[in-house]
Amino acid sequence: MIIVMQRHAPKDQIERVLNEIKRYEGLNPVPLHGTERTVIAVIGDERILDERHIASFPGVSKVMPVLHPYKLASRETKFERTVVKIKGVSIGSDTIAIMAGPCAVENEEQLDIAASAVRKAGAMILRGGAFKPRTTPYSFQGLGRKGVTMLEAAAKKHGLVSISEIMDVRDVDFMANHIDILQIGARNMQNFDLLKEVGKAKKPVMLKRGLSATIKEFLLAAEYILAQGNQDVILCERGIRTFEDETRNTLCIATVPIVKEISHLPIIVDPSHGTGKPYLVTPMSRAAIAAGADGLMIEVHPNPDSAKCDADQALTIDDFNNLIKELLPIAKAVGKKL
Ligand code: PEP
Ligand code: MN
Repeated sequence: MIIVMQRHAPKDQIERVLNEIKRYEGLNPVPLHGTERTVIAVIGDERILDERHIASFPGVSKVMPVLHPYKLASRETKFERTVVKIKGVSIGSDTIAIMAGPCAVENEEQLDIAASAVRKAGAMILRGGAFKPRTTPYSFQGLGRKGVTMLEAAAKKHGLVSISEIMDVRDVDFMANHIDILQIGARNMQNFDLLKEVGKAKKPVMLKRGLSATIKEFLLAAEYILAQGNQDVILCERGIRTFEDETRNTLCIATVPIVKEISHLPIIVDPSHGTGKPYLVTPMSRAAIAAGADGLMIEVHPNPDSAKCDADQALTIDDFNNLIKELLPIAKAVGKKL
């Protein structure tokens, strides 16, 4: 259930409701502070709670059941859209967030060239994997923690926000100390222990859709992070596995308006992993923005031919510059800035 507090209800009234819920074993109250009112989501088997008793507390406006299984991710609980803010960059606002950079951090020079180029083109978020989830154990696995600090340094030098994938619960503290946005990769979308741990971290998390996950499972995975008290969650559609083999994955653009309908969380699209082909990245980026996506994640490499990871799908710097130019009129058409 959710408890909707009255507009501008004072802190002590909110505290009293939170403390009351905590008295029940197995129930956890999660406060969601909006600009006007606070909503308290009750997590756990709420049948033990008497609605009328809670409704009688001062400051409570109404008590309502939440029909969706994803309670905190649902727009029923929080109608206002979530805007994730990191170092002056907003994701989920009227400015489209562009995350760009190489698939993997390879060396300082590669990263420096990529960071400088994407910044110049207008991207504000630098991507680069240091821990790479590879299908075969014999391909490049990433530079690990050394790669993380390299990404941190490049982002700092070029005034960019950083994003990098975390694969192991043991790296949460380290990553949270060095990286601005923690990325959960498609293969770990249902690694529930990892979701819980990043939920405890005080850093925004970008959750990618699993290769065979339904949208419901995707939102329930986000729910794991939210239920730990971390409300800075960004969703990323990166394509799913289907019988189609013309593209690396089948990029589901409909996810964008579907998520917008049922959730308040920002959603971005990754057409690089979604298609696996550079010539499809621009048209699918345009489609994503037209469909209402809050941002894009694009793989860009100074020299795709020599990339150690996902060489086939990376855009060159020139391609990336052209992509941004092509996005401008689309962004404008849907009332957004780039
Ligand atoms: C990535 O973005 O580096 C990545 C591995 O993507 P995904 O988890 O979507 O495959
Ligand atoms: Mn990649």
